[in-house]
Amino acid sequence: MNAETKHPREESAKARLDRMPSIRTGDDYVDSLRNRGVTVYLFGETVAEPVDNPMIRPSINALKATYDLAISDPDLATAHSPIIDAPVNRFLHIPTSSEDLVTKNRMQRRMGQITGTCFQRCAGLDTVSVLHSITYDIDQKHGTAYHRRFLDFLAAAQRANIIIGAGMTDPKGDRSKRPHEQADPDMFLHVTRRTERGIYVTGAKAHMTGGLNSHWIAVMPTMNLGEEDSDYAVVGLVPGDAEGISYIYGRQSCDARAFEAGEIDKGNARFGGQETLTVFDDVFIPWEHVLMDGEYEFAQEMVSRFTAYHRASYVCKTGLGDVMVGAAAAIAEMNGAEKASHIKDKLVEMVHLNETIFSSGIASSHEAKPLPSGAWMNDSMLSNVCKHNVTRFPYEISRMAQDIAGGIVVTLPSEADFEHEIAGPILKKYMKGKDDIPVEHRQRMLRLIENMTLGRNAVGYLTESLHGAGSPQAQRIQIARQMDAEGKKKLARDLAGIRD
Ligand SMILES: Cc1cc2nc3c(=O)[nH]c(=O)nc-3n(C[C@H](O)[C@H](O)[C@H](O)COP(=O)(O)OP(=O)(O)OC[C@H]3O[C@@H](n4cnc5c(N)ncnc54)[C@H](O)[C@@H]3O)c2cc1C
Ligand code: SF4
Repeated sequence: MNAETKHPREESAKARLDRMPSIRTGDDYVDSLRNRGVTVYLFGETVAEPVDNPMIRPSINALKATYDLAISDPDLATAHSPIIDAPVNRFLHIPTSSEDLVTKNRMQRRMGQITGTCFQRCAGLDTVSVLHSITYDIDQKHGTAYHRRFLDFLAAAQRANIIIGAGMTDPKGDRSKRPHEQADPDMFLHVTRRTERGIYVTGAKAHMTGGLNSHWIAVMPTMNLGEEDSDYAVVGLVPGDAEGISYIYGRQSCDARAFEAGEIDKGNARFGGQETLTVFDDVFIPWEHVLMDGEYEFAQEMVSRFTAYHRASYVCKTGLGDVMVGAAAAIAEMNGAEKASHIKDKLVEMVHLNETIFSSGIASSHEAKPLPSGAWMNDSMLSNVCKHNVTRFPYEISRMAQDIAGGIVVTLPSEADFEHEIAGPILKKYMKGKDDIPVEHRQRMLRLIENMTLGRNAVGYLTESLHGAGSPQAQRIQIARQMDAEGKKKLARDLAGIRD
């Protein structure tokens, strides 16, 4: 069968991506998502055009900002790719030095400052980074051709400048059981059949960040696997609009405010995050896009490498932390409380916690080492420490921001009431803080704090900080694995003068 007669399902990534106009600006990106015909469920209905949906659009805007940053600050958000020998968006660049990873962290912090939410593009970057090395290692052991397939895909992806979504987390069913032990085999995505031309997979990927906003999805195992789980040891690259894929949109606290008139009560009207349950119903993946099929012994290492990258990527939350500190300082001024010593001290504490997160993440990048494939990988201990800090400190920072804001952060009447003929003037009188500050400014700042600590972007600032890239216990397991208690005991015994 030649390229012209190939069924679209079998079309190579290169052919498909070469046909796609290369995305340069944020507006190009938004246009690229139109008319894809993807099946999306939201509020019990299918969404005709996600790009124009008021609840979905803020999440698209956050990704759009990754393209705009590459134009406004190319030193930060682009890099030279040796794979295509050209500059590429840093969100598609395989790190080839510790400096690459450090700059990536700085870019992530900047993106967090700009959007105040999860900008959804790092999970895909960390996935391609780990695929670079893991496909290389599998080939070395098994004589497979995964690395070459991966490089072909990545070269086309870099040229087209696409978004890649990361589908790692399976629904998992009964957590005490392995994939092959589950009553329903689809609780983990798995290969259902193999043909001469490729494989078919069924299952779902949960909580997928920016799932619907991605052009391609990389699916991969979520945990270590044994021989009986071989059919679950699958890595594949799939177009986001492939036949058999559907998306069920995740709700977020206060999300229905997106449909209200006015923008103040939205807190952050422009930007939001997105997670979907992404369902794979007998989805075909041609061999060219299969990067693991049955090599179960690499699943654990793949997850470990992914988390080494991704848990340091959580420095993104320090950008949101910068916004939170700014909001707390601003509301203190608006309330006339900024000179109180305990307020100043709380702001210092917030900054201390935020910078502690950044220190561990960026240290993990500075300590990166090369892998046999040539990709550089974060120091795993420090990246796990970074993510573990992230599971706690944003909650403490948010608590202090709410403390400084006052109870009005949760009792503020609606924007519509501020505009009401009778209630409006009353509210504008009683909701005033300092005389020289417009009431609307106070309203907006309170709504932003509400948005990030209780509303839509509390997903991106808080609960994603807790569970994204693995719940807290997952980091403690990694820290325990690497803590070298025996080595440390030896240090103590030597100094204590204990000889065996
Ligand atoms: C906002 C957000 C964005 C995310 N984005 C992505 C993404 O883009 N791609 C992706 O692949 N994943 C993504 N994730 C998934 C994330 O990695 C998972 O949420 C995380 O791994 C926890 O899995 P779970 O949510 O199924 O929790 P559960 O597995 O239900 O865990 C709940 C609790 O039970 C504990 N637990 C679970 N199993 C066991 C066990 N066997 N033994 C002992 N304790 C156990 C956990 O430690 C935790 O405390 C995202 C998650 C969130 C919340
Ligand atoms: S949680 Fe942070 S690291 Fe992960 S995709 Fe969102 S912004 Fe990027």
